[in-house]
Amino acid sequence: MAQDSLLSRLRGWLQTPAGTCVGIVAGLALMAGAVGIFVYGPSDADTEIDRLRAGGRQVWVFCRDCGYGGQMRVGVDEGFPVVCPKCHQKRAVQGYRCRNCKRIFELPDARQFTCPHCNTLHGGG
Ligand SMILES: [Zn+2]
Ligand SMILES: [Zn+2]
Repeated sequence: MAQDSLLSRLRGWLQTPAGTCVGIVAGLALMAGAVGIFVYGPSDADTEIDRLRAGGRQVWVFCRDCGYGGQMRVGVDEGFPVVCPKCHQKRAVQGYRCRNCKRIFELPDARQFTCPHCNTLHGGG
């Protein structure tokens, strides 16, 4: 029964001030480890943000240079204007597709605006 005597010796040692101190430190280390797993563990939100950042977003663009209007993928960190897929000039701004005539025009900086092609009112309440 060597194990029993070792265990009882360890238990007796943990009752001493030095042993108690080691026990508390070991306990704190375990708790810190648990907290670390909780905080830095599986973070789906971060993964999702990374995925979105890498993939960018599908937006309507309108080229001020050649008048191209279409959908393209723009990186999340990328600002407008972006490089036009047609004329390759950095003149493509955020576009808007009219729900009525389906044509694409530059998204105006207003809450309410009318389509320059068919005068349909967009935005607002
Ligand atoms: Zn263009
Ligand atoms: Zn329209």
